[in-house]
Amino acid sequence: MQTFDFDLFVIGGGSGGVRAARMAAQRGARVALAEVAEMGGTCVNLGCIPKKLYSYAAHFAESFEESHGFGWVGEAPVLNWEALKANRAREIARLNGIYVQLLKSSGVHLLSGWAALVDKHTVEVGGHQYRAKNILIATGGQPSVPDMPGREHVITSNEMFDLSPFPQRLLVVGGGYIACEFASIFNGLGSQVTQLYRGHQVLRGFDEDVRAFIAGEMVKSGVALRLNTDVAAIAFERGAEGMRVELLDGSHICVDAVLYATGRVPLTDGLGLEAVGVQQNAAGAIKVNAQYQTSVPSIYAVGDVTARVQLTPVALAEAMVVVDALFGPAAGKAPRSISYDFIPTAVFTHPNIGTVGYSEADAVEQFGKVSVYKSDFKALKHTLSGSTERSLMKLIVEDATDRVVGLHMVGADAGEIVQGFAVAMKAGATKAVFDSTIGIHPTMAEEFVTMREPVKR
Ligand code: FAD
Ligand code: NDP
Repeated sequence: MQTFDFDLFVIGGGSGGVRAARMAAQRGARVALAEVAEMGGTCVNLGCIPKKLYSYAAHFAESFEESHGFGWVGEAPVLNWEALKANRAREIARLNGIYVQLLKSSGVHLLSGWAALVDKHTVEVGGHQYRAKNILIATGGQPSVPDMPGREHVITSNEMFDLSPFPQRLLVVGGGYIACEFASIFNGLGSQVTQLYRGHQVLRGFDEDVRAFIAGEMVKSGVALRLNTDVAAIAFERGAEGMRVELLDGSHICVDAVLYATGRVPLTDGLGLEAVGVQQNAAGAIKVNAQYQTSVPSIYAVGDVTARVQLTPVALAEAMVVVDALFGPAAGKAPRSISYDFIPTAVFTHPNIGTVGYSEADAVEQFGKVSVYKSDFKALKHTLSGSTERSLMKLIVEDATDRVVGLHMVGADAGEIVQGFAVAMKAGATKAVFDSTIGIHPTMAEEFVTMREPVKR
């Protein structure tokens, strides 16, 4: 009979790894977790949390401006970037400590260092080998920067949080989540931001109306958005020019920093996947089945390293499926599974995007006949604020069933608003149910239950 040091060995202490380790230990399993950096992973250290804190910081700029319309007088305060960085770092360190504490109090054996597979039941960390009945790979992803002349001068989202000095002129390359969020945030914080995207419109994959609307709002708020072009080369010159960036369209711009937000790739460096027989797809993502089992039955993988839907709540949910599969569900509950339909998501641009379900184009492809309801309006707040910001709400309804299959919003707190509607949509809410729901007045969200006439069938 084989003897094991642990029932589960988790590689990576990010969203998926921490959740799996803690929950498995709480079910009585003997669990170890190895993390090479700070506990909490991308979301806590270099993603969701510091990004959202900086987004809050950036929102103050417009609030100070808008306050005048409500009778407030006086000069707007100026940003102390060093104070913001220090306060963020203090809060993240506090969260790191909480994660360590939670794991320890659940009985998880913590190891600090790089972990690599030795065989299908053995992991090596810091020269020591540990035997485990099952292994979970939750190593996340890392930024990917394409090759171009001057690549060594660019930074990624990892470096943005502690940038020094504050970039007065920032070039953001990319049109996805990270590019749009950081363009908005640094614009709000006071940088002169240029965003460069190679395609015809930012946020490919989102609803076309949402894409055009947010691009318009970002431009109005001061982001210089340049579409259908890309970087040809970057040169660093000391002095006022800073970095001189040559573009494919023949023009050039001079900036203090260049952020490449051109996607993230699974982090599998040095894990020893090939030697142990863990299969990856062409993009390097670990292949898994519905229970997140890899091609090696004792090895599982969840989260960004599988490159399905790269969101923290998805990594958490996947981790719970693995725990249930290996150690049984919580008392009185059925084993969990995940449906990748109707995953709500927010892009923390200014204003936010919140979305759940199908874009109009995808809904037409999936369901055939659909009706589209849309409202584009100025929020009550901006009748006095002086801001020209507008909001967009959009519903897509499948004609055959009356089910609401797409819900999209661009506007303040869209993420907060869409989360609740996502529950209704998971439950199969029809347009008739939306129509029979009483609104909360005066809010922006009430628009979702008061749109009566389709703009398109
Ligand atoms: P991670 O959280 O990346 O954790 C992996 C961990 O494994 C890391 O701590 C790493 O150090 C460790 N590791 C890697 N290899 C090894 C090894 N060999 N040995 C030991 N340790 C190892 N998602 C949202 O839902 N909402 C957001 O607002 C949001 N904002 C984001 C903003 C940014 C800038 C970024 C980059 C991402 C954002 N995300 C957001 C995505 C989210 O952070 C990820 O989907 C999530 O963190 C994935 O969790 P994970 O467990 O798969 O990996
Ligand atoms: P995305 O995949 O969202 O966007 C990458 C962008 O870079 C796209 O616009 C893409 O263009 C462009 N791009 C890719 N390769 C190149 C290239 N070689 N040259 C020029 N442009 C290129 O990745 P992100 O890095 O923004 O974010 C990674 C993931 O992290 C997201 O998909 C999301 O799942 C998660 N995330 C979630 C957040 C949230 O929930 N709020 C916030 C931040 C990240 P094209 O579209 O033409 O391919």
